[in-house]
This record gives sequence, C-alpha cells and structure tokens, in this order.
Amino acid sequence: MTTQEQPRVDADYLLVGGGLQNALILLALAQRRPDASIILLERDAGIGGNHIWSFQARDLPASAFAWASPLIEYEWPGYQLFFKESSRWVKGAYRSLSSEHLDRVVRAVADASPRIELRRETDVRRVQAEEVELADGSRLRGRVVIDARGPEQGGHSPGGGYQKFVGLECRLSRAAPTTVPILMDSRCQQRDGFRFFYILPFAADRVLIEDTYFSNRPDLDVDAISAAILAEAPAFGLEIDAVLRTEVGVLPMPALSTFHPKSQAPIVAGYAGGWFNPSTGYSLAAASRLAEHLSKTPVDDLFGQDWRRLTRYLRFQSIFLAALNLLMFRWFHGDKRRRLMERFYLLPDAVIHRFFAMETTLVDWWRIMYVGAPWTPKGWGRRARTPEQP
Ligand SMILES: Cc1cc2nc3c(=O)[nH]c(=O)nc-3n(C[C@H](O)[C@H](O)[C@H](O)COP(=O)(O)OP(=O)(O)OC[C@H]3O[C@@H](n4cnc5c(N)ncnc54)[C@H](O)[C@@H]3O)c2cc1C
Repeated sequence: MTTQEQPRVDADYLLVGGGLQNALILLALAQRRPDASIILLERDAGIGGNHIWSFQARDLPASAFAWASPLIEYEWPGYQLFFKESSRWVKGAYRSLSSEHLDRVVRAVADASPRIELRRETDVRRVQAEEVELADGSRLRGRVVIDARGPEQGGHSPGGGYQKFVGLECRLSRAAPTTVPILMDSRCQQRDGFRFFYILPFAADRVLIEDTYFSNRPDLDVDAISAAILAEAPAFGLEIDAVLRTEVGVLPMPALSTFHPKSQAPIVAGYAGGWFNPSTGYSLAAASRLAEHLSKTPVDDLFGQDWRRLTRYLRFQSIFLAALNLLMFRWFHGDKRRRLMERFYLLPDAVIHRFFAMETTLVDWWRIMYVGAPWTPKGWGRRARTPEQP
C-alpha cells in the first residue's frame, strides 16, 4: 500500500450491537447521510431484545423528530402519579415503543437502502478502533466503529443502587379504568427500598403493569413479583385475562458517573458507554443526542468542537444526576426514600422534563437539592387536591 492509498473498508460505519443505541444511530445516519454505508452486527435474531422503552416530552431533541418519529408506537398527552399524601398530573407528551416495533422500523429502513446491511445472529468477539473481529474469526473494517453492546458490557453500579422491575403485558377482560400512563403509584405495600407500580395502557384491553423497586440490592424474585402483580392488579381496577409477555430489568443507578467518553475510536456508546441518565436508568435522551451528533458531523470531525461540547455538557449532567443516587441510596432508606420521591414529584412539570432529558439547569439543581422550597406544607396541600386531566 502506498502512502496515498486508503485501507479498504467494509463500511463507513460499523455498528456493533443492535440495541436501542445503534438503532437510533442507524436511523439518523440513514436519513442524514444516505450515501454512507452501514453494517450493523447483532448477536440475536432480532433488533432490540425484549423491552418497552418509554420517553418523556423533551427526551428526543426537536431536530431528531425527522428520523425518530416513526419510532413512536404509543403516545399520551401526559401521565399521572399517585402517592400516599398526594397525586398529580405531569403534562407533556409521553411516548413508548416496543422492541418489535424498533425491529420493524430498522428493518424497513435497511430494506429501502442498498447501503445498509443488518447482520443478525453475528457474535462480535473483539472491537478495535477501526476493526471488528467476529466469533468465527473473520474481520471487518470500518471508518467509524461504534461499540454499543449494552448494559452487560458495562453495567455495574459503583456505590449506588438499582432500579429493578418485573413487567407483565396483560390482556384485560374489562376495559382499563385509565387511558393515560401511571408513572408511579406508591400506595402499595412498601418493601425492598421504594416500591411503586407503573402502568401503561396500550389499548382499552391491553396494559403493561410493572412492579418497580429503587433498591440497594440487585436481586429480583421474578416469580414472586409476577404473582404480586396478578394479586394486586384488581386494586387498580385491572381484570387480567391473560399475561402476554414478561419483561425484567435490573438497571444500575450509579452513585458516580460512568460517563467518561474518549475522544477516539471506537466510540463506546449506549448504556455501556454511560450514555444514559444515572437517576432514571433511561438512555433514550443521551442516546438520541449521540445519534444526532454522529449523523450531523463529518467523519473527519467527529471528535471536534461539537463532540467536546456535547460530552462536557452530558458529563456535568451525569455527575449531578449520579450524585442524587448517592444521596438517595446512602441516606434515604425505607419510608424516607418514599417521601423523598414524593417530594421530588412536587416540582413543576418543566423541571421534571429537564431532569429526564438530562437538561437540568443550575436553578433546577437548587430546587431539587433544597428540600425546603417546593416541599413546604403549602406545596403538599396544593398537590394533594384532585388532579385535573392534561
Ligand atoms: C427491561 C428494561 C427496560 C428499560 N426501559 C427503558 C425505558 O423505558 N426508557 C429508556 O430510555 N431506557 C430504558 N431502559 C434502559 C436502556 O434504555 C436500555 O438498557 C437500552 O436498551 C440501552 O441501549 P443499548 O443500545 O446501550 O443496549 P441494548 O439495547 O441492550 O443493546 C445491546 C445489543 O448488543 C447486542 N450484543 C451484546 N453483545 C454482543 C456481541 N458480542 N456481539 C453482537 N451483539 C452483541 C445485544 O444482543 C443487544 O441487542 C430499559 C432497560 C431494561 C433492561
């Protein structure tokens, strides 16, 4: 090879792991860089595993709608929260999608482009700056290699706790009494940290019911929790006819930020690279911002000024949000944790949206940290009245 010759590449972008992060990157690139070649390598037969992903109003940047809107499978105008001493609405779009839907959308985009190749059932053994080694020993080269192999690659919880849950997607024998999501209902019996139910009404006769714990321990008795969901569902007015699907999650909520992106290839993306909100365990906000950056920036300038601005901003957010975990999991146990969560949700809608989207401001930090201000008895009284529909 002479000095002028470029090494042969198999694709401009090699995406390792076909989960949420790389699906978002693929969709963004397909729209903004239709001439770029992309190979996505996924170990399993389908894209996205077995999830329902939800996201709040601001999680998806406005500029991302052009490529991300096909992902919206369900949308509601807001959600409700029910606590022991209060209840409220949070207004603003709340959206969800299933793995099956993600798989369909990615497949349709790939089918429509000769430059996009999905390689399923392909196990990747080693990822390097510009090269990937597959389990069968073969190698692929890419101009940009993005490694997003998911939580199991980097899912540890330094000093924090866990958001763990069992979710049952159920068919109902009678229409659900709610048509909007219940983000939290903590009027259930408290145990193993802070416990609450999360309910997504997909259709009049089909809901997802999750029994969730903000716990210091990662262990999860799936059978016992599934039985508890079935036993407690009638208290929410839900008559279960059949369980259609079970979803299990143990998401680390680290007390120290795990977001340390390197300004060099390969880009470690998604959950493994710390591109998630440490306080909520949700990754769509950070993952979509990375997809935006990669699709808007020429390959030669990927680690330039915009990268530095994005990663510095998310790092500040990540440090603050992880510190909240440190406070909660170290000092707030039992009933104190429940009260802490209830107090947080007295904050105005806009603060909550920014909190989820990793766009908190210094004033938000002050409001979240200063336990006195919005959480006075007056505040409790204000929120305890019957909530109005969004
Ligand atoms: C049950 C559950 C529910 C969640 N709900 C939400 C939610 O509502 N909203 C939200 O924002 N976040 C949610 N999260 C958190 C976060 O968004 C997810 O973990 C998200 O899927 C992370 O995206 P990712 O692409 O980094 O990893 P994943 O989506 O896990 O994708 C990683 C992919 O890499 C593949 N892979 C792994 N190793 C290899 C290998 N060696 N070779 C080839 N492929 C490989 C895996 O098969 C997988 O498909 C949830 C997480 C869980 C576990």
